[in-house]
Amino acid sequence: MNKTFQNIFDTYNWDDTLASINNKTTQDVEYALSKTKRDLEDFKAMVSPAAKPYLEQMAYLSKMTTKKRFGNTIQMYVPMYLSNECQNICTYCGFSMTNKIPRRTLTDAEILKEVAFLKSKGYDHILLVTGEANKTVGVPYIKHAMELIKDKFANITIEVQPLDQHEYEELIEANLYAVLVYQETYHRAEYKKHHPKGKKSNFDYRLDTADRLGKAGVHKIGIGALFGLEDWRADSFFTALHLKYLQKTYWKTKYSISFPRLRPHSGGLEPKVEMTDRDLVQTICAFRLLDEDVELSMSTRESEVFRNNIVHLGITSLSAESKTNPGGYVVEPQSLEQFEISDERPTEQIAAMLQENGLEPVWKDWEAFS
Ligand code: SF4
Repeated sequence: MNKTFQNIFDTYNWDDTLASINNKTTQDVEYALSKTKRDLEDFKAMVSPAAKPYLEQMAYLSKMTTKKRFGNTIQMYVPMYLSNECQNICTYCGFSMTNKIPRRTLTDAEILKEVAFLKSKGYDHILLVTGEANKTVGVPYIKHAMELIKDKFANITIEVQPLDQHEYEELIEANLYAVLVYQETYHRAEYKKHHPKGKKSNFDYRLDTADRLGKAGVHKIGIGALFGLEDWRADSFFTALHLKYLQKTYWKTKYSISFPRLRPHSGGLEPKVEMTDRDLVQTICAFRLLDEDVELSMSTRESEVFRNNIVHLGITSLSAESKTNPGGYVVEPQSLEQFEISDERPTEQIAAMLQENGLEPVWKDWEAFS
């Protein structure tokens, strides 16, 4: 039998998992924090309500652990949206199929214009993003875009529709470095509600995407949940469970976790479960204390103030000056963004902020293709 994460995931029940997190005690938290190697039960304790009074201690431990493993560096990356065409309905997204917005897919000339701007800012790591529209932005388009720009970047990451294993293999041949694929929520019924139409409505196919990536042999896999769709504690736990399974199964691969929170967009979905700034810090620290090596990534969805603080507490990779619309940098800056950016500071300002805080922005990961 072809085993995947689904086999493990299906042995868990959402409500029982959440109850077990909420039942963690002060003693469980103190025990978890006293350890040097922590497991998933410790993770539950660290994201539990009982851990709230321990946030300062968690932040300190997270900071020291990150410093020991990653030094004083922050990897810089930037997203480039290639297309806003999409054949899915996602209740929280401005590109959702039924939203009446002008659709655009960048041409070669437009891609190169955007790239010239991003290169002028110093970026060497790029994240290519599309909606999920197999006909217009399927594998041939993505591969062509990668080939067009591969000489200009040290590594290329994509965040596109989940693909089959052989398609990932084809893109890896074309120098694909990493793939980000978020489950959005690990709550099956809520997932269904937020993805009523299109290929994305298939929860299981999305859930097993990281397995297909692992089998294809991609260098790095990024996972995460969109916080706000369901209870953030349970979604954090299932992300951690997913991470631990992947690390054990595809041990040559690197991993990263992202922490998107629901942002306003043209559809205007409000979070079902609020995740406060303190909650988000608690989750980030819990991931760092669970795993010393995993990359933790923070986008410009979060505010200036929040990002200035969190760069000390466990985050290892940061985007800046992001645009979430195709052509958003120079080709068509006024088009509709996928979601609103909160931290709009220019790249130079973010780099200066990091340096003022004793951190070194890293533009190129020299180990990428070693
Ligand atoms: S989240 Fe992705 S798949 Fe869903 S509507 Fe937006 S672009 Fe399409």
